[in-house]
Amino acid sequence: MTKNIEHPTFHRAAKGDRFQFHDHYLVDDLLDDDHRMARQAVRDWVKAEVSPIIEDSYERGVCATHLFKGLAEIGAFGPSLPVEYGGGGMDEIAYGIIMQELERGDSGLRSMASVQGSLVMYPIYKYANEETRKKYLPKLGSGDFIGCFGLTEPDHGSDPGSMVTNIKDAGDHYVLNGAKMWITNSPIADLAVVWAKDEEGKVRGMVVESGWEGFSAPEIHGKLSLRASITGELVFEDVKVPKENVFPDIKGLRGPLSCLSKARYGIAWGAVGAALDCYDSALRYTLEREQFGRPLAGFQLTQKKLAEMLTEITKGQLLAWRLGTLANKGEATPAQISMAKRNNVNMALEVAREARQMHGGMGITNEYPIMRHMANLESVITYEGTHDIHLLITGMEVTGLNAFK
Ligand SMILES: Cc1cc2nc3c(=O)[nH]c(=O)nc-3n(C[C@H](O)[C@H](O)[C@H](O)COP(=O)(O)OP(=O)(O)OC[C@H]3O[C@@H](n4cnc5c(N)ncnc54)[C@H](O)[C@@H]3O)c2cc1C
Repeated sequence: MTKNIEHPTFHRAAKGDRFQFHDHYLVDDLLDDDHRMARQAVRDWVKAEVSPIIEDSYERGVCATHLFKGLAEIGAFGPSLPVEYGGGGMDEIAYGIIMQELERGDSGLRSMASVQGSLVMYPIYKYANEETRKKYLPKLGSGDFIGCFGLTEPDHGSDPGSMVTNIKDAGDHYVLNGAKMWITNSPIADLAVVWAKDEEGKVRGMVVESGWEGFSAPEIHGKLSLRASITGELVFEDVKVPKENVFPDIKGLRGPLSCLSKARYGIAWGAVGAALDCYDSALRYTLEREQFGRPLAGFQLTQKKLAEMLTEITKGQLLAWRLGTLANKGEATPAQISMAKRNNVNMALEVAREARQMHGGMGITNEYPIMRHMANLESVITYEGTHDIHLLITGMEVTGLNAFK
């Protein structure tokens, strides 16, 4: 149980709010009222709907699909997409802060929202024809439809340009064949945004409904990370895709990469949320837990850990915020997004590892969120471009030399 601690960092925040007591650099001042309102709404929802069930969902490896409707109601799907296309009509910082609060709850929860908004709604909004937009976006925005995004294949992960999934022109439709791997939400999805090569070898995007003949999405079992999020394959055996469902004008990897930029941006914010939850827990725990006759927080080694965690989180917050201001002007580059995703996820993982140790034996139990965040972040550091791939992107940006091959 938490004592009522008179501590400056605790004091500044809303009293008794375990989700907010550490805005050391007053980053809050950089937000406007709309951002703060969005953050509060999501925070309240996570506390009411997610916190009570998340440890159980995680332990049982069950995705709480009923949360999709709630995510839609709080505006977590496509917060920065236009309202008339199912989005929230907010700016990029609001989108980021919503992802932060979701991931403070659980990275799997944020993944559900990221995929739906940034990897499914965004490409349909950006690249589909008007009829397809009208057909799918309102239902995705309201959570009536669940979407997934199929880029990664069993043999092609970091190198999606080598994908073998393909479409062939069959007159009034295309025929889709191939398989995708590691697809968030696929076993429960109503539709998938799929990337496949056409007969010229160009990567094309399309909306494929899960009820169509030849479509299957077996679940991937045995995950020890993101256990509250469902992941599966996508298998296409001669699936007939109507021509109007294929994005008309976008060809090549630019299409999927633009979606990934949007989602990676959200992850840069989201990871801060996971780090905040770990830090908050470590601070509380070490202030309360006594060894050698005094609180753990009174020892220099603990203070070094807390001070460094807070410093790194603050740097991550500022990186995300600056990226958000650039994104609002349409100026955030893929390389800048890579840097922020890479830094912030790694930072969150380091914070989680330190926090785990600071909780001693209790740190390995589900009494605290630490192990769950730590295990989740092992996926987050791999998906949407691995830690190493983002480093290579930054390296290419600064040297002009491609070290991928
Ligand atoms: C839980 C989860 C959910 C996911 N959800 C989705 C989804 O919804 N949709 C989707 O399309 N994908 C999804 N993915 C896939 C994810 O994006 C890939 O796992 C990721 O891109 C890495 O691909 P890979 O696993 O095949 O690893 P590989 O590409 O085989 O990489 C293995 C290792 O080699 C390193 N490596 C690769 N190439 C180089 C190089 N040139 N130089 C140096 N090192 C290199 C990598 O950094 C990595 O450490 C998900 C993955 C997970 C784990």
